[in-house]
Amino acid sequence: MKAQRSPGNVLAAALEPPKSKRGKLDPNWRERLPSPLLYYRLHLPGMTEPKPNGWAKAPCPFHKDDGQSMNVWAGSKHGSWNCRGGCGGGPNIVAFHMRLTGLGFRSAISAISEDASI
Ligand SMILES: [Zn+2]
Repeated sequence: MKAQRSPGNVLAAALEPPKSKRGKLDPNWRERLPSPLLYYRLHLPGMTEPKPNGWAKAPCPFHKDDGQSMNVWAGSKHGSWNCRGGCGGGPNIVAFHMRLTGLGFRSAISAISEDASI
């Protein structure tokens, strides 16, 4: 029985803590993050332009969404987000990226810091 790539195993792997913790997190990691607006433009296809208050909407990537359940505060400093469809929310783009990709905290920071250099 070949079960190595079953969805359950992939999920379990994503929930495991990272095995290697080599390398220190850059103490200035917050400054290397992209702006929430840039981040969400890259990672949320179909996002609306933010309203004057900074909030934008997009189809939620975490559930089958025919509408625009995902609210992201793209115009804010940290980019908090919330899904009205029941997926929950988070305080910033790092939490969003961890949810989107299954990466751990450090890996998510490192991945989205590269977005900032585009
Ligand atoms: Zn959702």
